[in-house]
Amino acid sequence: MREQSEDLEDAFLSPYALRSRESRGRAHPIDPCDVRTEFQRDRDRILHSKAFRRLKGKTQVFLAPLGDHYRTRLTHTLEVSQIARTIARGLRLNEDLTEAIALSHDLGHTPFGHAGEGVLARYHPDGFRHDEQSLRVVDFLENEGTGLNLTYETRDGISAHSKGKGPIAPSGAATRSCEGVVVRYADVIAYLNHDIEDALRAEVLDSKDLPAEPLRVLGSSRGERIGTMVTSVIIASQGRGTVTMSSDVLAASEALKGFMYERVYPAESLLAEVRKAMGILEALMEYYVANPADLPPFYADIAEAQGAHRAACDYVAGMTDRFALDLYTERFIPKVIGYS
Ligand code: MG
Repeated sequence: MREQSEDLEDAFLSPYALRSRESRGRAHPIDPCDVRTEFQRDRDRILHSKAFRRLKGKTQVFLAPLGDHYRTRLTHTLEVSQIARTIARGLRLNEDLTEAIALSHDLGHTPFGHAGEGVLARYHPDGFRHDEQSLRVVDFLENEGTGLNLTYETRDGISAHSKGKGPIAPSGAATRSCEGVVVRYADVIAYLNHDIEDALRAEVLDSKDLPAEPLRVLGSSRGERIGTMVTSVIIASQGRGTVTMSSDVLAASEALKGFMYERVYPAESLLAEVRKAMGILEALMEYYVANPADLPPFYADIAEAQGAHRAACDYVAGMTDRFALDLYTERFIPKVIGYS
């Protein structure tokens, strides 16, 4: 059955797609599966990982406990995966590889969204970046030090991930797979649109404040805008060895992104609740950097081998919002017993 799937890839995929038969393989070679291709296996390994399940408890932008309808890191990831697969199928790229990259692209995210990432970056001498941490999760942290042993191509795609404020179109894309770049675009398409919706829900933004010109190009509803952006990537990239977006839609998307970085993301990080969340991570980081022996054994071993900052970052970055909150309460809030 695997061979049948590989034959289908050969018959259907574009010349620019990566074929699972041509994978450069894994750091630790394993026997081929009877049923699934190598990239399908990567996708399944990611889906079954603990780090993937923890995404449900991690904030995307708006603190997850505030309301049931806000995106979490998990629903963001699923939206990215859906958008990326649509583009990949439209371009006859490898949909399984695209899905594997999409499902793992945010595994390294901290609790409490980018506010949390900022805290960890201050505590580690080399900084902290969630995209680098995603690779560390799949290479090492998952399964207590053995990682997921993914293929070269999925790992490469994770490191092609978008870099926050930087330009949407990737630089140096020639060295990256088309599948990796598709996920990069899908990530931006997903977050720009769902963050607008969540910002409206949180009343951080009023719909009449949205910039008129980008919306004229992209559409007035979330569905229209996603449709415009996805179609633009497919049409602009068809028959080419690179994945790109048409220049008018790219310019409008950049303008919308600039607006979000100017108006919504700073406003969100100034909210009192977000400051409290950052205080929780600061206290945990400070505590574990000073007391690495109190880390769970796996992380205490990392502290021995790679330093307390690294171990504290690994431990805290992996937490869900709830876990960080509970651990903070346990460590720093006195239990008042028999006091009335
Ligand atoms: Mg993302």
